[in-house]
Amino acid sequence: MSVTVSHRSTCRLCDSSNVSRVVNLKPIPLSENYTDDRETALRDARHPVDVYMCADCGHVQQLDVIDSENLWKSYTYYSGEAKGMPEHFQQVAGEFRQISGAPDDSLVVDIGSNDGSLLKPFKAAGHRVLGIDPAEEVVRRANEAGIETIEALMSPELAQKVRDEHGPAHIICAFNVFAHADDLGAMVDSIRIMLADDGVFFFEAQYLLDIVDGMLVASIFHEHMSHHSVKPMIQFLDRHGLELIAAERSPIQHGSLIGTVQLKGGKRPVEASVAELVALEDKRRLDKLETMQQFDADVRRLREQTGALVKKWSDSDATIAAYGAARSGPMLIAQFDLANAIEYIFDDHPQKVGKYSSGDGIPIIPTAELLERMPQYTVILAWVHAQKIIDSNQEYLNKGGHFVVLCPETRVVGKDGDVSILAAK
Ligand SMILES: [Zn+2]
Repeated sequence: MSVTVSHRSTCRLCDSSNVSRVVNLKPIPLSENYTDDRETALRDARHPVDVYMCADCGHVQQLDVIDSENLWKSYTYYSGEAKGMPEHFQQVAGEFRQISGAPDDSLVVDIGSNDGSLLKPFKAAGHRVLGIDPAEEVVRRANEAGIETIEALMSPELAQKVRDEHGPAHIICAFNVFAHADDLGAMVDSIRIMLADDGVFFFEAQYLLDIVDGMLVASIFHEHMSHHSVKPMIQFLDRHGLELIAAERSPIQHGSLIGTVQLKGGKRPVEASVAELVALEDKRRLDKLETMQQFDADVRRLREQTGALVKKWSDSDATIAAYGAARSGPMLIAQFDLANAIEYIFDDHPQKVGKYSSGDGIPIIPTAELLERMPQYTVILAWVHAQKIIDSNQEYLNKGGHFVVLCPETRVVGKDGDVSILAAK
């Protein structure tokens, strides 16, 4: 796969060139790329994933951009298959219908609609629905399931076409994808073009405060181009003719932000939640360089401590494995220097089993083999599901195995609970 990487020199939200690198990370291969052949996997290029901050608006972001086509075209993550997501979507669809007061037959547009899972409950409630997503296979599945979906990246031209053909949208959603767009200005311009006068736009993205508090190194990878916070977002939306009217924290992905947005000058008042989160961000100095530089120092300390531990295990000939070929896997393997230590990764995804991880060439084998192989230490790469994985593999622990959780601190878990905890803070 040929990949083009470019480096932005300006802030994604305010165009300022007053941006500086605040978190230094080791380059990583593209995360969702598994290959049949180990030699090919080992040749996969690594790309920078350092984190930058804008000194003018405070936005924290990636500036090394992988071209969109390579990043998304062959994407094989299905949101409908992720644990707990269909229930989450059912619930949020109900809430969004209530907040927006959208008429039952009005248009709902989902940007980055994936397999159409979020649109299904809207359709069931009587809405006209339209998905937009650049990934070929997920779009095919969505259309097969009866959710009309356009295979494309969002653009103002496409937005105008959608409005001309379908009319204005009363609800627009961008879940997670709001952190994924390089040209976020074009994304929100597209939303403004499609939105009905009294329509509401909802976005969900990982929240920077949770990344900092939870040491969520694993949530940094090429696809997450923005690490959003409320304060820079307000000014950004305002410049694009939109207004943030509510901001709520959600436990999804260990800490997300759900924003509610209307056209500037719209009928709804701005709720107290917006000012409350701005006050919290000010108190935590979230828009100051020092805060992110401290995060950088914490990551380095945790890497050193964990590296020493893993070296001790390797030197004593212990077998070290990993669990979950998740999107965050290459990031955790690279930042914690685990590539040479991990012998295999347990995962059941049909498109990953029997293949090799990008860049590191680690074989992926079925989770059923955990009890046969009994590695002494199994590092959990699917960090979001760490507790579930520990709970459902008690037999492995009872037989003498250990799970290792890497964020927010390095925990080694045995049959009687935590064996050791390394904390960076
Ligand atoms: Zn900025």
